[in-house]
Amino acid sequence: MENPHGSALSGRENDGKLSNTNVLVYPSGASFPAVAEEEAGVTYSDPVDNARVPLIKLEDNLRTHLSPNFTVGSFVGKVGRDYQYARISVDLVRIIQAIQERAQAPLFIVSGYRPPAVNELIKGADQSPHIAGRAADFKISGIEPLEVAALALDEMGPHVGIGLGAGTIHIELRDSLKSWVYTGAKLSHEEFSAWVQERTKRASL
Ligand SMILES: [Zn+2]
Repeated sequence: MENPHGSALSGRENDGKLSNTNVLVYPSGASFPAVAEEEAGVTYSDPVDNARVPLIKLEDNLRTHLSPNFTVGSFVGKVGRDYQYARISVDLVRIIQAIQERAQAPLFIVSGYRPPAVNELIKGADQSPHIAGRAADFKISGIEPLEVAALALDEMGPHVGIGLGAGTIHIELRDSLKSWVYTGAKLSHEEFSAWVQERTKRASL
């Protein structure tokens, strides 16, 4: 998987769509050539972020580690059984790994990349960043979603869209802070927003 000679994506803003970008290099060192949009076809189109995160080919790579604790399969879930390509943000992998390292229990990604048809099927938001490979729904064994949200905010600061659910949280890469709740969450939207504001203020001091 190593390809030290490719023009690598590295650094924090490595999801920027650069014209000379042809290889994605993940925290594990695993590298994947970016697949041309024409090759994968409309099934994998990204109207949400205009293919900011390039497609990679799944092939036999579901068990390939992208970071110490997470594989390609961790980020594609069941999609990996039926689809050939995926979008997985290098930044998102780095952040999920960092959140895992802050926690004392296993982190499990419930939903990562979704092709548009899958997003529609599960009634995801129209402009869901899951389609762009820049969002993840996850839980951490034995830890309340609000506490998981705290770990995420401590890692990401205000550069996140964060949704509090009944058993999971959603995070997405964003330039500015946004927060909301899903049905069954312990806090109301107002309560969670206030809590998020307070938490990010504290983190940036
Ligand atoms: Zn989500």
